[in-house]
Amino acid sequence: YFVKETINSNKFQIVDPETIKHVAKVMRHKSGDVISLVDPTENLFMATIDSIDPDSKFIAVDVEKSTKNSTEMPIDVTIACSLSKKDKIEWITQKSTELGAKRIIFFDSRYSIMNWKPNVVEKKLARLQEIAKNAAQQSKRRIIPEVIYVDKLKDLVQYKAEANLVAYEESAKQGEISRLAQTLNEMPKSVICAFGPEGGFAPEEIDFLNQADFLSVGLGPRIMRAETAPMYFLSVLSYKYEL
Ligand code: SAM
Repeated sequence: YFVKETINSNKFQIVDPETIKHVAKVMRHKSGDVISLVDPTENLFMATIDSIDPDSKFIAVDVEKSTKNSTEMPIDVTIACSLSKKDKIEWITQKSTELGAKRIIFFDSRYSIMNWKPNVVEKKLARLQEIAKNAAQQSKRRIIPEVIYVDKLKDLVQYKAEANLVAYEESAKQGEISRLAQTLNEMPKSVICAFGPEGGFAPEEIDFLNQADFLSVGLGPRIMRAETAPMYFLSVLSYKYEL
């Protein structure tokens, strides 16, 4: 569970109502159960439940130890996906979180089948951020990935990383898969990869991204669905850097 306060003694109280509800009502934990807590310093603590306030105002825990072993990848990974239907972007958010993304950006592109009106952005992002939090909790992440929306492809540029990539199936067809391997061999501190919609990127979008120093990369000879390609990419990174 993510707690908002820093844990700096062996007695701690969980006070966030949502976390209390999850621990006591959803997971039905009782006194004596051991749970894990992650505080804002990204440390993980094992904690034994001491008491659960009958009015659900707090849960008192005895903190046992902090472990520095991280579940985070050694590089910061940003996944930037073209907007899609609600169930797909929710799935992308959940699975990218399980697979270790640090930031998930959705953007509007020429062939996106959906677009968000300005008045719905806040509500939609809040829902996706909640999905990221639940997924981070379940996969014992140390951080909750940030979910961001940009309404123009050109605004992606402000999230540039050390390595900037765009997944482009035409590169795959031209046998340029090795570019991905080459980029990853150099172990950048951070990487962003942009993924197009079901209909793919328009050639002028690829030109724009290439000019902004996003390198086109192929992800193998098979064309994946828009939601599968980022998962392939994250899995490759996990394999590359976590073994
Ligand atoms: N318009 C394309 C077509 O019909 O041939 C398919 C686009 S694909 C369904 C959606 C997105 O996933 C692409 O824009 C690209 O970013 C990514 N993608 C899927 N397979 C890929 C591959 N083998 N190499 C690189 N990118 C891929």
